[in-house]
Amino acid sequence: MIGILGGTFDPIHYGHLRTALDVQEALELERVHFVPLKHAVHREQPGTAAELRASMVQAAVAQHPAFVMDDRELHNDRPSYSLYTLQSFRRQMPHTPLCFLLGMDAFRDFLNWHQPMEILKLAHLVVMHRPGEELQEAQLQQLVAERSVEDAAALRRQPGGSILFQPVTQLAISATDIRRRARQGCSLRYLLPDAVITIIEQLKLYRPS
Ligand code: ATP
Repeated sequence: MIGILGGTFDPIHYGHLRTALDVQEALELERVHFVPLKHAVHREQPGTAAELRASMVQAAVAQHPAFVMDDRELHNDRPSYSLYTLQSFRRQMPHTPLCFLLGMDAFRDFLNWHQPMEILKLAHLVVMHRPGEELQEAQLQQLVAERSVEDAAALRRQPGGSILFQPVTQLAISATDIRRRARQGCSLRYLLPDAVITIIEQLKLYRPS
């Protein structure tokens, strides 16, 4: 069973890495694929070139044997819909259970995504959340009532289609805040791996031009 975490990763930080590690260990995932998106669909486009964002992901994931930098979206000029990313994984791994990792905020909006029920046919959803967080949305509650499972063993029985809520370490780190600090010349230490900070410093990323 593998995990997939898509994002703009502009830059990747410990909020991404620690939560992915929590899920990898809890569900005993063989690997977690970090997939930098070229053309983000639900947000403004990242200011940093996709190849550079991927180099930062590469530098960060090199520190864990189960983490993989996955460049499948980098060379695609279509919008980076999760559906297309998951179709690509499914073509490559027809029977492997796939766990699509997403935060609770993203999950609240899941039914407005491009073809959400097709996404659920292709993969399980692993919703990374804060213990005690509630879902208010009625339609989502209905979906959760139909699809939720309690543990990794239940996910392993099918290639996709279930929803698991996984508590993860809460780290209030965001790429937006990191870019702001870099712009202001503040230290980035302890927010993201040193190897990524080195790339940001060497290339003077996020500095006013
Ligand atoms: P930005 O601040 O530019 O919006 P971001 O820090 O949210 O970026 P993304 O690359 O957009 O980073 O996030 C990819 C995925 O990681 C999303 O599913 C997002 O919810 C999740 N994520 C981001 N930051 C954290 C965090 N601190 N803890 C847990 N998950 C996070």
